[in-house]
Amino acid sequence: MPGKSRHNPEQLTTYYYPLPTTHHPLMFRVSRKIEFCYGHRLLGYEGKCRHLHGHNGVVVVTIEVSELDDRGMVLDFGDIKRVVSQWIDEHIDHRMILSREDPAVPALEALGEPMFLLDVNPTAENIAKLIYDFASAEGFPVVEVQLWETPNCLATYRSGR
Ligand SMILES: [Zn+2]
Repeated sequence: MPGKSRHNPEQLTTYYYPLPTTHHPLMFRVSRKIEFCYGHRLLGYEGKCRHLHGHNGVVVVTIEVSELDDRGMVLDFGDIKRVVSQWIDEHIDHRMILSREDPAVPALEALGEPMFLLDVNPTAENIAKLIYDFASAEGFPVVEVQLWETPNCLATYRSGR
């Protein structure tokens, strides 16, 4: 029955290339890199990071939308820089990011050292979350914040969607 063979081109379309019944929506995504310096130390940790030390951190803020604006953009990179970079500059750049529980806090406070205190350990993971939460609260459709603590160590905080 040559007309009903599975090699018939019309049937190939039917059998081998069905339209997908479910699919994920396609999205546009842009990222902005921001560099800053910070100091910290980790409590309850036995490695080198239990001592006060610093990092040249690189944070990458990623924004995602399903439709572009009138300019054909997800968002102006300048807007992320203006809002997020400014907050980083004013609050955590060149500061000690420490746990509120850290016994070093009163001594640094007495010396007038600038600090940013967290309710949690100031790991790269928690600093990534701090920046994610700030950017989200400012209304950016942020889906992911990555913090490169060193050129080899990356922590990511991202939306589960
Ligand atoms: Zn560190």
